Amino acid sequence: MSMVWVWTIVLILVLMIFIYSVAPALWTRVFRLSSVFKGPAKPEVSLTFDDGPHPIYTPQLLDALDKGGVRATFFVLAEKAELHADIVERMIKSGHDIQIHGNTHLFVPLLGPVRTARQVEGAAMRLQKKFHVQTKWYRPTWGLCNLYSFVSLKKSGHRLVTWSIMVGDWKCTPVDMLRQRIAKRLHPGSIIVLHDNDETFGAELGAPKSVIELIPYLVEDVHAKGYRFSTLAEWF
Ligand SMILES: [Zn+2]
Repeated sequence: MSMVWVWTIVLILVLMIFIYSVAPALWTRVFRLSSVFKGPAKPEVSLTFDDGPHPIYTPQLLDALDKGGVRATFFVLAEKAELHADIVERMIKSGHDIQIHGNTHLFVPLLGPVRTARQVEGAAMRLQKKFHVQTKWYRPTWGLCNLYSFVSLKKSGHRLVTWSIMVGDWKCTPVDMLRQRIAKRLHPGSIIVLHDNDETFGAELGAPKSVIELIPYLVEDVHAKGYRFSTLAEWF
């Protein structure tokens, strides 16, 4: 095979990877297109939690949310939701909203169409079957999707959602620091993303402890600013 052919094939492969994996990720994560990343311009904020449920942290978080009178949106992993069904039942009973983060915490840009569909349609079906919830939002793991994610979203009727405030809470961070980072950036229609699981690749063990401790302070700061909490379902 001549070098021209080798380079042509390499070029085609690079182009395909760009179109399938890189461009969709840039499209939603960097340029924030085709995705909802903030709510309406009202004095309201939406609290969202990714990666759970976790058998230890999530119940503690639910206690803190109950105490603060806050209803949140949980972007759960279907596999963990089935494993800790009692926690998901409690979320539903407390008026929290259950939405999709995927089946398991996979890196979507590298998944083929079949496994990509499992992250959206598959997870939606599993949650529907187990908990009788009709999900309508999908937040891809690490906020990254691929070209087929859009096909799957179209088929299942889900909308893509990211966030407007992310504060690095997957690393063990002092509560004060998390509090300051959020307070500085609070805006009408904020979608705040936090994490209630430390088993995800890249997360630090014990990191959700600060997130749980943060809740009463966050409630205080949000109310002090004259804002109130809404779930995504209340907004859209
Ligand atoms: Zn995640």
